[in-house]
Amino acid sequence: MDIDLYSLKITATEVAYYLICKRKLWLFSKGVNYESENELVLLGKLLDETTYKRSKKDDNPFEGLPFKLDFLTKDGNLIVHEVKQSDKLEDAHRLQVKFYLWALKKLGLNPLKGILHYPKQMKVEEVFLTPEDEKDIERALQEVERIKALNKPPKVERKSYCKRCAYFEFCFS
Ligand code: SF4
Repeated sequence: MDIDLYSLKITATEVAYYLICKRKLWLFSKGVNYESENELVLLGKLLDETTYKRSKKDDNPFEGLPFKLDFLTKDGNLIVHEVKQSDKLEDAHRLQVKFYLWALKKLGLNPLKGILHYPKQMKVEEVFLTPEDEKDIERALQEVERIKALNKPPKVERKSYCKRCAYFEFCFS
């Protein structure tokens, strides 16, 4: 699949939301945003601002691309780092990091791996991109596009994550 990254209208957050909940993806993509009021999101932002401060760069070395990496390290090999406040959505976090690895590979940068950091849990996880993952990412991108183009949001599907979701009140009241 030939994808022009610079014209891609899909963000890494949308890729992660695709795995978490199709309805959440649709609502987010339409700008329905309750996230500033959500305690968990605020906690995540606070952690984001206070953790790994010295490692992060203010500038985005990939200006114009639909994502902003937490930080990159290069010690012989390029490694993508992503910091998360909770390890409860590991599958979505892995997909997000794989999306970054896929995108960097498309740019010819061939990163070695990604590392997910969970500072609250004092845990790190390595993420690698396999050829099968690359196909999954491209399929996911097509699905994200299809869902975003829907005229109305996918139906509510109750899941264990719902109570922590910024759209909980919207979906269940
Ligand atoms: S509350 Fe549940 S159904 Fe509604 S958007 Fe969030 S995860 Fe999806």
